Amino acid sequence: MKVAIVGAGLTGSLLACFLARRGLTVTLYERRPDPRVAQVERGRSINLAISERGLNALRKIGLVDEVMADALPMKGRMIHPVTGALDFQAYSASGDRAINSISRGALNNALLTAAVAADGVSVEFEHRLVELDSAVGRMVFATPAGKVSVEADVVLGADGAGSAVREQLLAEGIVAENVDFLDYGYKELSIPAVDGEFALDPGALHIWPRGTSMMIALPNPDKSFTCTLFWPAGSFDALTSASGIEDHFRINYPDLLPLAPNLVDDYLNNPVGVLGTVHTLPWQAHGRTALLGDAAHAIVPFYGQGANCAFEDVVELDRCLDDTGGSWARALPLFEARRRENTEAIAEMALANFVEMRDKVASPVFRLQKQIEHTLERLLPGTYVSRYELVSFSTTPYAEVQHRVHRQHQLLGAAAVAAAGVLFAVTRSRARR
Ligand SMILES: Cc1cc2nc3c(=O)[nH]c(=O)nc-3n(C[C@H](O)[C@H](O)[C@H](O)COP(=O)(O)OP(=O)(O)OC[C@H]3O[C@@H](n4cnc5c(N)ncnc54)[C@H](O)[C@@H]3O)c2cc1C
Repeated sequence: MKVAIVGAGLTGSLLACFLARRGLTVTLYERRPDPRVAQVERGRSINLAISERGLNALRKIGLVDEVMADALPMKGRMIHPVTGALDFQAYSASGDRAINSISRGALNNALLTAAVAADGVSVEFEHRLVELDSAVGRMVFATPAGKVSVEADVVLGADGAGSAVREQLLAEGIVAENVDFLDYGYKELSIPAVDGEFALDPGALHIWPRGTSMMIALPNPDKSFTCTLFWPAGSFDALTSASGIEDHFRINYPDLLPLAPNLVDDYLNNPVGVLGTVHTLPWQAHGRTALLGDAAHAIVPFYGQGANCAFEDVVELDRCLDDTGGSWARALPLFEARRRENTEAIAEMALANFVEMRDKVASPVFRLQKQIEHTLERLLPGTYVSRYELVSFSTTPYAEVQHRVHRQHQLLGAAAVAAAGVLFAVTRSRARR
């Protein structure tokens, strides 16, 4: 049984580790050179937040301690208003649960190294998939030495949001796709260490909510921070001169300016990335070709769940292979049936979280709501659990999270109405007396 995985990013490399444990012969095909020796692309999502779902997958292949050794736990959000004091908002009722800022490159390298160290796994770099016949598993790759044709019993597309495998399945008329581009782009900036120390609190994810736009910053192991601007598409082009950029940041992000000596260079030279949600139907063809991770269902990054969700895909596919006695023909449709509603749920929650991060977190009403929510979690442990807690600190299926949170809100609404009724009755009877 020969399995080909297209894409040796986070999903593909993790998948290879899982499949190697089944004794399969796995080849990873990656369009880029070996990232362990190549230069990182400028301004392309340097770090990411890994939480329980991602850690659960890493635990299963014995890699969690290695990855967590360099992780920086973030226990809450630090809100930076335009004027006034910073405001820390804990992620959990106990205040000690954290999501982890991890270097994307280091995580990918750790997974790749673990994959190629496993029996039966090999990797071909600088192999870009350009053709696929999904019915027979024949692939053509463009390489520096010319085109190469290979065949595999199973082809798994883990080649990201712009997936070539998905594109080929689309051209074969097997899948339909819908990409909802967000009308926002992202650009990375940097805050270097100051005298060898973090310039901001490294125990928080920093947010500069600005209504229709925002900036976030996550800490890195070298004591720098990577900031990401999420601005309406096109608005990046409005700032073209050093003085224009500095003036804009002085007015809108005043505390960033003294911390970001490379602001103008970063702003002018780092690319603007696109954001969107990918919907694909179906994810598999002929019981032998399938899509996983971003290739099947890329989401916007505002819940910090894209990679976590992709890692959960790998765990679920592995479970489906267990449940079908290793039959790919049955495991792939089962994987899609079990996973689809969950990926759709996190796609919705990720979009909703954008509004929360860029706008609501700054409001006193939101702060009060969070305080009430945490109080309820402490008073009713296990009965009332916040959405953030369920998404980030549990492996409760995403669709179940949505249903449960909806039920909790309904109950709370009913309780609030009942409490108001009692209050009204008491006040009226007192007034009569
Ligand atoms: C700004 C930003 C911030 C994010 N923050 C978070 C976060 O905090 N937490 C989180 O969980 N997720 C986050 N994500 C989402 C996360 O990055 C993705 O969900 C994750 O990278 C998906 O992994 P993947 O392996 O499926 O795809 P990718 O990481 O895109 O990897 C795909 C791989 O396939 C290769 N490839 C592509 N085409 C071909 C081809 N034709 N032939 C061969 N190889 C090919 C690529 O070179 C790449 O190595 C963020 C995303 C963005 C954009």
